[in-house]
Amino acid sequence: MLTDSYGRVATDLRVSLTDRCNLRCSYCMPPEGLDWLPSPDLLTDDELGRLVRIGVELLGITEVRYTGGEPLLRRGLPGIVARTAALAPRPEISLTTNGIGLARLAPALREAGLDRINVSLDTLDQATFRTLAKRDRLDDVLAGLAAAADAGLVPIKVNAVLMRGVNEKEAVPLLRYCLEHGYQLRFIEQMPLDAQHGWRREDMVTADEILDSLCAEFTLVPDDPRARGSAPAETFLVDGGPARVGVIGSVTRPFCGSCDRVRLTADGQIRNCLFARQESNLRDPMRAGAADGELARIWQRAVASKLPGHGINDPGFLQPARPMSAIGG
Ligand code: SF4
Repeated sequence: MLTDSYGRVATDLRVSLTDRCNLRCSYCMPPEGLDWLPSPDLLTDDELGRLVRIGVELLGITEVRYTGGEPLLRRGLPGIVARTAALAPRPEISLTTNGIGLARLAPALREAGLDRINVSLDTLDQATFRTLAKRDRLDDVLAGLAAAADAGLVPIKVNAVLMRGVNEKEAVPLLRYCLEHGYQLRFIEQMPLDAQHGWRREDMVTADEILDSLCAEFTLVPDDPRARGSAPAETFLVDGGPARVGVIGSVTRPFCGSCDRVRLTADGQIRNCLFARQESNLRDPMRAGAADGELARIWQRAVASKLPGHGINDPGFLQPARPMSAIGG
């Protein structure tokens, strides 16, 4: 088991398959992109498959979420998913993507064993999309969502980040769109994880503000908090349901007390928290011939040292050096 000193057990593994991306969302990276991780440092498909197997077979991981950067850019993705689906006990397999290329890949990913999908969508306006992501790809994202639904990758969750002065007026249109298409929308508070280290609390649209704008148009009834478990999103029935909307108040309504997440980066480092300032290296001991048991022990020690929370609201908070694009959602 991957237990920390607060009694939390990590069962949800988030795996970053690449730090590269084909969008330049301003809350994540600068328009010119970043110096990508050197290829020799990246885990091969075999190395990645081995570590995920160790997590599932030896350490009690029951959910595997593939992320990035943009995971659809990873050439061997369907094979990676199929290998994960063949594990026993079979974990639930999901993917977080910006949707670019999903229209082409959705059937193959479903066939390989992908269960469900999260797609990032921060606006329905072409011009705002260009401003936010520095690319003209909104239609590709919407086509990707439709293809995921056709392929049966349900429930489809849509993740939206609102930024003051950019897209904060999009909360209601985004919810209307998702209600019409049967997508589960969740708003995520912008977090201090951008590569530029430009995050400012006053620019963040808070959970309260998001709910206020939604309540102007919809009747929202909170779900029983006991039903939430370790899920990041607080959910609300919309206009009597059954449709719901979620809010992930990472900064103003932290949920670290019930966290069950652990992360593996594309270059083989274990992060026991999104905001961890230390990492544990699995890649190099693995390449040096370490046995499964030894790698599992390194992993257990990494989780055992997990802090109680992200510390964003603490006076001495320091943003991690590794940017969001190299950690994953
Ligand atoms: S910030 Fe860290 S501890 Fe808190 S919920 Fe996220 S991963 Fe878990």
